[in-house]
Amino acid sequence: MIRVAINGYGNLGRGAEQAISKSEDMELVVVFTRRDPASVTTQGAPVAHVDDMPAWADKVDVCLNCGGSATDLAEQGPAAAAHFTTVDSFDTHAEIPSYFAAVDAAAKGAGHLAIISTGWDPGLFSMLRVLGDSVLPDGTTTTFWGPGVSQGHSDAVRRIEGVLDARQYTLPVAETVDAVKAGEDVELTTRSMHRRDCYVVAAEGADLARIEKEIVEMPNYFADYDTTVTFISAEEMAAKHAGIPHGGTVIRRGLTSDGVAERITFELALDSNPEFTGAVVVAMGRAAARMAARGQTGAHTVFDVTLADLSPKDPAELRAHYL
Ligand code: NDP
Repeated sequence: MIRVAINGYGNLGRGAEQAISKSEDMELVVVFTRRDPASVTTQGAPVAHVDDMPAWADKVDVCLNCGGSATDLAEQGPAAAAHFTTVDSFDTHAEIPSYFAAVDAAAKGAGHLAIISTGWDPGLFSMLRVLGDSVLPDGTTTTFWGPGVSQGHSDAVRRIEGVLDARQYTLPVAETVDAVKAGEDVELTTRSMHRRDCYVVAAEGADLARIEKEIVEMPNYFADYDTTVTFISAEEMAAKHAGIPHGGTVIRRGLTSDGVAERITFELALDSNPEFTGAVVVAMGRAAARMAARGQTGAHTVFDVTLADLSPKDPAELRAHYL
């Protein structure tokens, strides 16, 4: 049994807990939190404060860091790597090189291994981008995101005066996706690739025209996209928009010789972004525990993980049934 800790119990932490419950070779032994442990209720695992991590060093094979990328992981990644083999889903793409260096130094200093930036993007999508690029060097890769909820954009709409609640969906523009798949010479711009749909619960008597204008003209968030705004009741929001779906598509088109076109498409359609991301993080946790057991140390990424290490199945079984 691989003994697993979860560090940070939000959406992703709960998603990882759910995924561990479906993994027969893994058991959740503790959940770490920065909050009062008594205030956190899990599906059954004990809860400990992050300050108590050292006491768990010999009882945990891999710690899944489930904190947020915006502020939590810069501190949690290196801190947890001092005590455990770790896995995280750091997704601030531009900062991955410096985050890798910080975690690498902490992990090597303690003789531990860390796999950073797992999940689906970065994560599975990154693996497919490398695969497409390697197999079809004469080609281009395009990534579309959605349909899915963007928490950051939903929060931005909620901050507008008169808005009680909001949910923002990012959607790929279907015509552009089809054109890319067909290999047409289509212009790929922010507006041509994705659009944004907002569902808003407004306060009684609020100026709906002003709210809509503030949304569609919001710089950085909406101004560069075609955005629709639909006002709904709180009841409809609760009934139809409670989930956290997401997904996307990575398309690699390339030529193997003049006029001979090949296409790889990798698509994710997720009912629950955190549950799926948790499932990836847990599989990466299995790989991390195995790599650490073989004596590997330092920071790694999904590019260093083998499919055999991700799988709970025996390599002989994989050879017999999956090749
Ligand atoms: P949350 O905001 O739900 O949780 C982040 C942290 O906030 C938790 O670890 C928890 O830490 C704390 N927290 C959670 N609930 C509460 C609460 N009620 N009161 C106080 N603190 C709370 O974020 P998510 O779990 O949704 O996302 C985590 C990260 O996952 C994202 O920032 C993103 O970077 C990453 N992600 C990566 C993906 C990928 O494909 N690579 C895909 C999706 C997400 P504590 O228990 O210590 O208080």
